[in-house]
Amino acid sequence: MFVPELPEIHNLARQMADELMGREFAGVRVRQPKCLNVDEGEFRAAICAATVQGITAHGKWLVMHLPGGRMLSNLGMGADVLVRPEAAGDGDAHVVFSFTDGGLLTLRFWWFGHVHWVGEGEPHAPTDSLGPDALSLSEEEFLRLLGNRRAGIKSFLVNQKNLAGIGNVYIQDILFAVGLHPERRIPDIDEETRRLLYREMRDTLRQSLSVGGLAYERDLYGSPGGFAEFCVGYREGEDCPGCGTEIEKMRAAGTASYICPACQV
Ligand SMILES: [Zn+2]
Repeated sequence: MFVPELPEIHNLARQMADELMGREFAGVRVRQPKCLNVDEGEFRAAICAATVQGITAHGKWLVMHLPGGRMLSNLGMGADVLVRPEAAGDGDAHVVFSFTDGGLLTLRFWWFGHVHWVGEGEPHAPTDSLGPDALSLSEEEFLRLLGNRRAGIKSFLVNQKNLAGIGNVYIQDILFAVGLHPERRIPDIDEETRRLLYREMRDTLRQSLSVGGLAYERDLYGSPGGFAEFCVGYREGEDCPGCGTEIEKMRAAGTASYICPACQV
C-alpha cells in the first residue's frame, strides 16, 4: 500500500551521503541480476575500486555519483537499504556492496527494483524523461508546469514525467488541504488555488522529510520515519477532520483515492 516517494528517497540520499562519501567499493554481490540494466560483469567492473563522489535524489530515484558515471537505484514498491557491519552478514540481500574500509551497503527489494549503471554522457531513459524534482521546483515554475494542461490534477501530478517525486501516498492529503477533487481538470483551477497547491505540496514533502519520511518505511539504519498521520488518506469510512462527512475511497487516475466528498470539489 505504501511505497517510497520523495521524502523517503531524499532522506536515504542524505543518510547515504553522510555514511558513504569518499569511501571506496571493494566488491559487489548481485543475487538478483534482473534488477541490473547491464550484465553483472560490466556492473562489477564499473563499481569495484570506485570512490563515492556524491549522492543525490531525483524524485523516486537515488543517484550515486562515481568516477566514470552514475549508479541509479529505484526501490519500486519499497526496499530495505541498509548500512551494516560485515559481521552482521548481508541478510541475503539482492545486491550487496562492500567497502575497502569494511562495512556493507545492502539492498533488498520488497517486490522488484532497479540498480542501473550509466556511464558518463550515456542516456538513461527512465531518468532522462523525468520532470523536475518536486522539491527543487519554484512556485513560478510550478505555475508554468500546470500552464494550460488539460489533464485531471491528480493524474498530472503523479505522472513522473511531469513532476518527479509524488505518488499515491502524499497526493491524498495535499489535494484535501486545498479542497481539490482528484479528477478536477487543470483548466478549472484558478491561480490562487494553484499557488496554494504548490505551497501545500512543498510543505507536506518538507515536513515528512524533516521527520525522516513515512512511519511505514525504513531508513538506512532500519529505523522507521516519523510521518504517520493522514487527514483523509487511508481513512475510508472515518469522519472528515474538516466537516465530519464520511471519507470515501474512489478510483482516480487509475489508483485508489481517499476524499471528503464535501470538501473536495
Ligand atoms: Zn470535509
